[in-house]
Amino acid sequence: MEDVRLLMLPGPVPLPERVCQAMMRQAINHRGPEFGAAYTESVAVLKECFGTENEVFILSGSGTAGMDAAISNFGKGKKIASLVNGKFGDRLYQIAARNGDATEIASEWGTPVDLAALEEALENGAEMVTMVHNETSAGILNPAKEVGRLARKHDALFVMDGVTSVGGDEVLVDEWGVDVAIVGSQKCLAAPAGLAAVTVSDRAWDRIVEDRPFYLDLAACRKSAHKEPMQTPYTPAVPLFLGLHEALMMIKEEGMEARVARHRRMSASVRAAVAAWGLEMFPQLDEHSAYSNTVTAVRMPEGVADVGGRVKQMGIEIAGGQDHLKGKIFRIGSMGAVSAPEILATLAAVQHALRK
Ligand code: PLP
Repeated sequence: MEDVRLLMLPGPVPLPERVCQAMMRQAINHRGPEFGAAYTESVAVLKECFGTENEVFILSGSGTAGMDAAISNFGKGKKIASLVNGKFGDRLYQIAARNGDATEIASEWGTPVDLAALEEALENGAEMVTMVHNETSAGILNPAKEVGRLARKHDALFVMDGVTSVGGDEVLVDEWGVDVAIVGSQKCLAAPAGLAAVTVSDRAWDRIVEDRPFYLDLAACRKSAHKEPMQTPYTPAVPLFLGLHEALMMIKEEGMEARVARHRRMSASVRAAVAAWGLEMFPQLDEHSAYSNTVTAVRMPEGVADVGGRVKQMGIEIAGGQDHLKGKIFRIGSMGAVSAPEILATLAAVQHALRK
């Protein structure tokens, strides 16, 4: 068995002991008051993480289930403009293409999204825009506020993947005009993998269609959420819900402001080390984009092989590049309950692994 002691991936992240304990218990009825209270309390904290007054629903399914729900509830055949500058932007585009008349607005992975091309697509009648806020595959933070403004100006729905920003970095769904936003449980929330949460704006409710998916039907989620006690349409992954609930109680105790500040401190430390090592960050920024505050993507230096493998031998797991970036970059996750000693240990291991 591999002896990995510390996961420094951009998800999944290590689970606090309290979260593990919350899952280790006898089954409960998901139509009963205990589950209802956990769901209600969870939603209250998720609203803070998302920066929204909109309703939030928890889906049994990973982040991709949330992405699927966010697009497929709004009908077949819509004109959709998908901003793509990494793997997950591409995933949103692929989901959009299965549901509608999707246009990919492609940028090289890790380079800024093309706002001028988006405006053109909106002028040509795009009814929905999709974008990843924090593009995990490339370590770039995309301009949600600008995209929200453009979508509003042209009366299009804005679907935003916040899978690796919500709960770790600042996300302001209401202020930015995001109509449907998504988070995955195993990332900044520091909860077990397997759940997604989505927010739905009033504008989005007005445009939801009759011909919805069955399992990921957001209107069915709303109907069940309005019952007393609060519940889900079908049997949820109860142990994961209870784990997520505990993780969210920890977020409440820490406070979102402090949590965002901690994530920013941790990622700034990683970037400082990258600069000190004389390595190059992977993303190329413009005035609208920024380095991710939850995952740092670094160009692999010439002549150094398998940094990730060497780091793993020291008991720590970092991530490599995905798809065509395999072997070209490495990525250090700094999300969830991540602490300064964990960052220091990781940086020491990476520094050691970088020796030629
Ligand atoms: N979106 C982003 C930005 C991600 O980083 C990920 C996973 O890494 C996903 C979506 C997909 O989430 P999941 O693997 O939970 O389905």
